[in-house]
Amino acid sequence: MGKTIIISNRLPVQLQIGNGDIHAVPSVGGLATGMKSVHKGGESLWIGWSGLTDEEIPGELAPKIDKALAEHGSSKVNLSQEEVDGFYFGFSNRTIWPLFHYFMEYSEFKLTSWNTYKAVNRKFADAILEQSGPDDIIWVHDYQLMLVPQMVKAERPDSSIGFFLHIPFPSYEIFRTLPWREEILKGLLGADLIGFHTYDYERHFLSSVRRLLRLEVSFNEIYFDDRVVKVDSFPMGIDYQKFSQAARDHAKMSKKDQSELQRRLNSHKESAPDARFFLSIDRLDYTKGIAKRLNAFEYFLNKYPQYKEKVRLIILAVPSRSNVPQYQLLKKEVDELVGRINGEFSTVSWTPIWYFYRSMPFENLIDLYTSSDIAWLTPIRDGMNLVAKEYIATRTDQTGVLILSEMAGSAYEMNEALLINPNNFEQIADALYKAINMPEEEQKSRNKILQKRLARYNVEKWANDFMQALTDQREKDPAYVTRRLSVDLMNTILRDYRAAKKRLLFLDYDGTLTGFHNDPQKAGPDEALIEMLDKLKSLENTDTFIISGRDKDTFTRWFVPRKYNMIVEHGVWISRGGEAFKQLENVKKDWMEKIRPVLESFVDRTPGSFIEEKNYSLAWHYRQTDPDFGQKRATELDTVLRSLIANDDLSILNGNKVMEIKSSNVNKGRAAMRIFAEDDYDFVFAIGDDWTDEFMFQELPDQAVTVKVGRQKTQAKYYIDSIKNVRELLSRFIN
Ligand code: UDP
Repeated sequence: MGKTIIISNRLPVQLQIGNGDIHAVPSVGGLATGMKSVHKGGESLWIGWSGLTDEEIPGELAPKIDKALAEHGSSKVNLSQEEVDGFYFGFSNRTIWPLFHYFMEYSEFKLTSWNTYKAVNRKFADAILEQSGPDDIIWVHDYQLMLVPQMVKAERPDSSIGFFLHIPFPSYEIFRTLPWREEILKGLLGADLIGFHTYDYERHFLSSVRRLLRLEVSFNEIYFDDRVVKVDSFPMGIDYQKFSQAARDHAKMSKKDQSELQRRLNSHKESAPDARFFLSIDRLDYTKGIAKRLNAFEYFLNKYPQYKEKVRLIILAVPSRSNVPQYQLLKKEVDELVGRINGEFSTVSWTPIWYFYRSMPFENLIDLYTSSDIAWLTPIRDGMNLVAKEYIATRTDQTGVLILSEMAGSAYEMNEALLINPNNFEQIADALYKAINMPEEEQKSRNKILQKRLARYNVEKWANDFMQALTDQREKDPAYVTRRLSVDLMNTILRDYRAAKKRLLFLDYDGTLTGFHNDPQKAGPDEALIEMLDKLKSLENTDTFIISGRDKDTFTRWFVPRKYNMIVEHGVWISRGGEAFKQLENVKKDWMEKIRPVLESFVDRTPGSFIEEKNYSLAWHYRQTDPDFGQKRATELDTVLRSLIANDDLSILNGNKVMEIKSSNVNKGRAAMRIFAEDDYDFVFAIGDDWTDEFMFQELPDQAVTVKVGRQKTQAKYYIDSIKNVRELLSRFIN
């Protein structure tokens, strides 16, 4: 077992330069704490930016930095000021951050920033490649590094890579406005496991993958480049013990040990015992809804004037990204609003808002959490919101009310809080009223449930669950792994193939020998395929058949001149050695008049779908429709058709984005068996990718080598990953 490599934009340590020397001090942030169980001892390495640009690191200290970081299991990626500007302040914070939080109007789409983002992601990927081994488990964090998984996977296909997004993933309608949307999705798909805070973010991501990349998604698994990428939600927790213990210690603290802030809070409480503190703590970010909250506070004071002089809003706004223009504007807006509301409502003995624009040390956060009757957190959009969880963790006597925006990821786990829509001032004012008047018993019963949940699903459990899922993903699907055509299995098959006296090969066409096209007529054979089929045709003692659901006219055009053996329309027609197609089965077609209008009505109602009319079957194709919509319509059509054909001898084949209606006495299995019966074949091989090929896999004798392309459930003996691998395998029959 190898090491664990953690990669995030920032390292979990801060560099402090003083007296010509350098110190690395561990950070106390949520991620650093959460990863403690993962990032320990000599078994792990954390790679990230140190927080100092190349320009800021004094030349003589450079060698010492690596040593100081190494003592904390960390290794730095060097970034220049220009790189930090383009990658972090530029693309990460001016493009991705606003877009993923639904602030489309704030998103900048600058090619230069995107290029820097790519280049810096490359630097991170190179650092990983340089410092990790093939067995290492790699965990990449957050929106600054979305291209890293693919960059690493390309060089290290066998590595195990996880990615966790700490911010929301927006709905497809928003995400698709990004000019580099495909690159970002493909970047992420380099990972084997992609984690989000909530099921909604996961759902949005899967929908973008299906719509933009047109990849097959089955539940929460994506089939991409011969791999399965798993997507799941892991709501990040907090270090519950740390917060609840700090609150317990705080309660026991003697007056003289209390902080200046605590004394101020106490003196206010003593002077007005029935007054209430509302607490709001956020980074000063437009996603947090601070200005809206201030307006809502004003609305509340006007709606419930009896609470003037009785409530106080404590706002702690932590400075953030202050060199991005929107943050500067927000700062101005909040300053002005606080000034205006305080000016409007203050009395000689009462200021409604206490406003702190700074960050506070941990002890002061505990002062605020434990002294506030109501935590009021109303982000407009927030990946998780840990402050909500921290507040609940510090309420050791289980009193206190949490008012939380539905738009925060944490709201999904905190149903017992008063959940509000941050845009609904009426609802907010009423929630504040309800919170002020909530009986202690009710507060306790709500918080008891919340605390139990937060204590159990803490940040350590979050990290361990993710790592466990990543490890499981590596060993996933033993049935698939054992039946996958490995080199050993291939060698055994080839031995039997060579030893055989008379061989029979059945090759499905679409999805097996060649890829799918939106227009089936365009999926003609490429030169390499023709060359390979020519060689297969000339093999001694070998009968090769292309066996397909295609219509005979197309195959006549493509393949009759090349004299291939072919069975088409699932077994209705056969052509050998260049002769014209002959009927292999007698089939009726009078049913078509009844079914065609039904299919036409589905085409009318399903943009992008169309009918393909073959001699003895009708096919409804929906590859070009919206994937979810197409699937829905296919299910609907299936129901309609089944009731219609109940008394006919017809069957419905659900193929790959196509539904085909045809006579029941025709299928590839039956056709293959007729050929098989013609001679003494002692090696039989059949390969195909979809449902229609299952008939062959089922009906051919047990000793036949049957191979499924892709990963769907199958009756075939073996699996192969991709068309590319099919061609490689067939080329070994030739050489
Ligand atoms: N926090 C802090 N100092 C402060 C104010 C807040 O360390 O002065 C911490 C707080 O305890 C919480 C984090 O900052 O752990 C904020 O996390 P959250 O998920 O609420 O918001 P984010 O800033 O990640 O969007």
